[in-house]
Amino acid sequence: MAKDYYETLGVGQTASDEEIKKAYRKLAMKYHPDKNPGDKKAEEKFREATEAYEVLLDSQKRAAYDRYGHAAFTQQQQGGGGHPGFSGGFGGSFADIIDEMFGGGFSGGAQNQSGADVRYNMDITLEEAFKGKNATVKFATLVTCTSCKGSGGEAGSRPTNCTACHGRGKTRYQQGFFTIERACATCGGAGQTIAKPCRPCNGSGRTRKEKNLEVKIPAGVEEGTRIRITHEGEAGLRGAPAGDLYVFLNIKQHSLFKRQGSDILCKVPIQMTTAVLGGEIEVPAIDGSQVSVKIPTGTQPGQQFRVKSKGMSILRATGRGDMIIEAKVETPVSLSKKQRELMEQFAELGKGEKNSPESSGFFRKVKDLF
Ligand SMILES: [Zn+2]
Ligand SMILES: [Zn+2]
Repeated sequence: MAKDYYETLGVGQTASDEEIKKAYRKLAMKYHPDKNPGDKKAEEKFREATEAYEVLLDSQKRAAYDRYGHAAFTQQQQGGGGHPGFSGGFGGSFADIIDEMFGGGFSGGAQNQSGADVRYNMDITLEEAFKGKNATVKFATLVTCTSCKGSGGEAGSRPTNCTACHGRGKTRYQQGFFTIERACATCGGAGQTIAKPCRPCNGSGRTRKEKNLEVKIPAGVEEGTRIRITHEGEAGLRGAPAGDLYVFLNIKQHSLFKRQGSDILCKVPIQMTTAVLGGEIEVPAIDGSQVSVKIPTGTQPGQQFRVKSKGMSILRATGRGDMIIEAKVETPVSLSKKQRELMEQFAELGKGEKNSPESSGFFRKVKDLF
C-alpha cells in the first residue's frame, strides 16, 4: 500500500504549492540516485517523493487524492503499473518537474526553458474583418518577474556553476547495463544554481499576471486566420525566450451577407412586380454605403447580379472582391379583392409559351412522357 503523499513529503494537508515544492526539493536533493549510487532505499524514497509531488502539485489530481486517496489514480497511472516509472517514464515527467521547479535557461538546456505559446480565440464581425481593427487582448499568463527582471536571483545573487553536474546540466545514471543521461536534479538542467532565489517568483524569473495587449487585425482576414505576435506568450524560465501569442480569429455569421472568398453574397427579396417590370433597388454594402442595382425586366428567382469591387477587402492587397446580389422574388400575399381580380385577368391573358417559356416547356415534356 502506498504511503500517504502528505506524509511522504512531510507537509500538512493544507500545504501551499510553495511548501510542497520546497519539501520535495529537499527530499529530491537528499535521496537523488546520483548522490546515493546503488542505494535501493534512497531510490525508493526518491520515487515516492516524486510521485507525491506530481500529484500534490497538480490541483486537479490533488483534489482527487484528497477525496479518494490512492484509489483516484490506479486507473490513470501510465503503464498501469501504479508506479510512475522510475526507469521507464522517468525521463519525461520527472524532467518536466525538475525543469519547472529549478528553472534554468543559462546553458545547454535553454530550449526547453522557453515560455509556452499562448492561444487566444477572438470573435470578430464580418465588418471588422472587412475594415480591420485594433483589438485589446486580455489573458493571464506568466510574465517576467519585475523584482529580479527574470534572473531568478535576489539582488546581488549571481548564478554560479552547479556543483552536482559541474555546469553540464546533465548527470549520468547507471541502471543495469544502461547508462541514462538526464537533466541534473540539483540545477534542473540549467548547469547553474542561484544561492538566494528571488522571493516573488521563487527563483523562476516569472510570475503570473494578466496581460493587456493591443493587437492589430488587418483588413481582409479570413475565418481561422491566425495572427502571431512573437514573444508575447508565456515568459521563459529565468530569462529564457518567451513563447509566442497566437490570436485565432472566428468570424461571426452576418445577418445579410455571406462571404464567398473575397466576394460577398447578399440574397435580396424583390417584389414580384419589380421582377416582372424591372426597376432599381438599393442594397447596403459591407463598407456601409448604399449600392443601387438595376433589376432588368423578367428577372427570375435566383438570378444573380455582380457589383464590381463592393465585396471584401483582400488581405495584404489593395483590391476588393465583388458583391453578388441574388434576387429572391417574393410572391404577393394577402391580396385585396381588386388585386385578385387583376391577377385573374392577368392569368387569363398571360397563358402560354410566350410569357412563361420554362413552365410551358416543362408541362409539354411531361405530356410527351405519358
Ligand atoms: Zn523574481
Ligand atoms: Zn546541475
